[in-house]
Amino acid sequence: MPSFSAATPTTPSFPDPHDALAQRSLQYVWHPCTQMKQHAGPRAVPLVSIARAAGVWLYDYQGRRILDALSSWWVNLFGHSHPHIQAALREQLAQLDHVMLAGFTHAPVVELSQRLHELTGLGHAFYGSDGASATEIALKMSAHYWRNAGRPEKCRFVGLAGGYHGETVGALAVTDIDIFRTAYAPLVRLGATVPSPDARQAQPGESAADVAQRCARTLEAWLAAHHAETAALILEPLVQCAAGMAMYDPLYLREARALCDRYEVHLVVDEIATGFGRTGSLFAHQQAGIRPDFLCLSKGITGGTLPLSVVLTTDTVYEAFYDDEVARGFLHSHSYTGNPLACRAALATLELFAQTQAIARNQTLAQQISTALAPLSDHPRVRHARHQGMIWAWDVQTRLPDFSQRLHHHALAHGVLLRPIGHALYIMPPYVMDEEAIDWLARGALGALEATLAEEGQA
Ligand SMILES: *Cc1c(COP(=O)(O)O)cnc(C)c1O
Repeated sequence: MPSFSAATPTTPSFPDPHDALAQRSLQYVWHPCTQMKQHAGPRAVPLVSIARAAGVWLYDYQGRRILDALSSWWVNLFGHSHPHIQAALREQLAQLDHVMLAGFTHAPVVELSQRLHELTGLGHAFYGSDGASATEIALKMSAHYWRNAGRPEKCRFVGLAGGYHGETVGALAVTDIDIFRTAYAPLVRLGATVPSPDARQAQPGESAADVAQRCARTLEAWLAAHHAETAALILEPLVQCAAGMAMYDPLYLREARALCDRYEVHLVVDEIATGFGRTGSLFAHQQAGIRPDFLCLSKGITGGTLPLSVVLTTDTVYEAFYDDEVARGFLHSHSYTGNPLACRAALATLELFAQTQAIARNQTLAQQISTALAPLSDHPRVRHARHQGMIWAWDVQTRLPDFSQRLHHHALAHGVLLRPIGHALYIMPPYVMDEEAIDWLARGALGALEATLAEEGQA
């Protein structure tokens, strides 16, 4: 199998002007999260066509391989083309592709919902097709709950600074990232934000738990003033991923839970990114020993095979909708709600957690990865080297305004997929990294960082 030569790490192999598929893509496809013009011109960001993928590797049409250090936007937990998930999907496809979920049910959706109940203690799984729609479902359910409870004025939301909950118009109300929101501000009914307990904000002498405590007091003051019109607090537990992997102490979750109880405000826990083992436990909120009122799951739920999301909630919430009156029900719907193939892929993914004892094995794996990445963590230009479960991040001190693009480019030349968020370099690898892959990743990430920083003088 041909692969990238480590001997020419600073000579980017991308973009490949002969990548005809990429050229056609630029003509016909509008790519996500992309200023399309950046794919044009002499300093073009490469667009890479991928022919196939297996395990941690993506392969282009020349058979060159790229290590998927981001689990393709955080979804491919057990790598690509996992034979167990593929077999389950094949079997399901031969039996039942799809049936509408209003008035009908099927084994995959029942089994998955029961399984998720057993794993979270929450129930009444409501399905969507992506993370943003899970956020929308949770926000609508929360506000509708208060309306059904005779308190329609409780219809506002509060989230953490830098929070990310998706980019549909409703979800943007609680997504506090300017670049995703500014252009649509007139469309959005903005939620409030309270300070993030991001541990990087520690003052001298302050621990991560101190920061959490300090931010909890701000939340307390905010809730004291606004609880009467507030339906829910929404947050990402332990790691605010899209904010650049901001990590915080679980104490904040316990405090937030207690405050939400005291002020009668729902706690929506968005585990779309942190769920399914990413932070070291099956779900991040479990590390704080709390129970959310709503739990949003997506991304890794199908092991990166099919789009699916789910919102789980409590009996209390469910019962407030259970009524003779139709309009008190939750009438939200998506065409593909509870799609049998997606549910079957999710079941197969959960089976892999059990079969491979992934949560326990990831602890050993994480130690190996941390050791291999020590040169990055100790790098003189790195601040706030941080790690939680299967997430690593480093803030790079650089003057390059386009640091992220440049590093991405150099990483590709080293056969690694990396895409820093601003100056935060991070990795979220699949759970199936072997020794060769760890070595490849560590060398590629360090090489890409050095090559990028070397351009500072010339920029
Ligand atoms: C990715 C993400 C979402 C949105 O999911 P999509 O499937 O991209 O709509 C919501 N919340 C968090 C925490 C996420 O990381």
